[in-house]
Amino acid sequence: MAHHTLFTTAPMRGTAMLHIYLSLLRHHGPVHWWRARDEFEVAVGAILTQNTAWRNVERALENLEDHLSPHAIADMPLQELEERVRPTGFYRQKARRLRAFSRFIVERYGGDMATLLSGDLERIREELLSLKGIGRETADSILLYAGNRMIMVVDTYTLRLLSRLGYPFTTDKNREYERARTFIESNLPRSVEAYREFHALVVEHAKSLCRPRPLCTDCPLASTCAHADAFLS
Ligand code: SF4
Repeated sequence: MAHHTLFTTAPMRGTAMLHIYLSLLRHHGPVHWWRARDEFEVAVGAILTQNTAWRNVERALENLEDHLSPHAIADMPLQELEERVRPTGFYRQKARRLRAFSRFIVERYGGDMATLLSGDLERIREELLSLKGIGRETADSILLYAGNRMIMVVDTYTLRLLSRLGYPFTTDKNREYERARTFIESNLPRSVEAYREFHALVVEHAKSLCRPRPLCTDCPLASTCAHADAFLS
């Protein structure tokens, strides 16, 4: 079976992104993600979720419950912090990252995440990226989900999906991150809600259908997916 791919020609690409977004939305419905109580909790979740399943992050957040503030974590003895975040794996490293992040908020912004998040987007992104253990995906998750800032989050699921659909991205996240981010940002409706929803839908799609071995027969994008042939034949 031969398919036309969505990304055959440059003028098609903008329409293609919208098609992907609407098809995933129709198929999966709006994805309702966990609602945090404040911006700091979102940031803590974004740091702890690196390399682990979300249910482990929820256990760590429960352990931190009464201590979820920049001041409390900045002042917490390291060993205690390690114990509290232990369910997320790599807990020594994550405790240090969390403490460094909290100290940064306290020392630079008086413990007020809202002040950080309302600054100039490029500048605060650079500041976040300069912190140890905060890479682009984590920084942009904090900006989009905690700060309501218009910036797209790119993860390995996003690159896998787009490259399977025929867009000439490789799946090397480090190399492709900025290219994919600006491409998606310029081809989706310009709204924080659309950006959030798109990222959540891609994650949902990657977990349910577009897996390492994808379930293409049930996929709403199969008729225009470059990769589907191999799995539908
Ligand atoms: S058709 Fe298959 S490979 Fe293509 S997006 Fe859907 S699940 Fe992924």
